[in-house]
Amino acid sequence: MFEAQGGCHCGAVRFVARLADPPVPALDCNCSICSMTGFLHIIVPHDDFTLVSGGDVLTSYRFGSGVAEHLFCLRCGVKSFYQPRSHPEAWSVNANCLDAPVQLAVETFHGRNWENAKAALD
Ligand SMILES: [Zn+2]
Repeated sequence: MFEAQGGCHCGAVRFVARLADPPVPALDCNCSICSMTGFLHIIVPHDDFTLVSGGDVLTSYRFGSGVAEHLFCLRCGVKSFYQPRSHPEAWSVNANCLDAPVQLAVETFHGRNWENAKAALD
């Protein structure tokens, strides 16, 4: 495990996350919102994530089942982490929002066919 820092584009949202040793497992999801935003998921248990700043600038967006809570910075619009539907006990951190690039082991998550993709993860 190691600590990685990251945040949104304007710097209002800042976090520290404890990640698995590289290559860090990551999910590349092809669902409607992830493909639009280019979000690359690193699943981080809630206990291994600390929001350092920016709780007051996060705004929430829900669609479809409404279970996932997409969190965007009000100022710059970047989604640096959010609450995914697939892992209720964890945040999903955007690998593209880490300060320093980390080596990733990327797997495809077929979010367009969510029920099957989730079953394949379990
Ligand atoms: Zn921002």
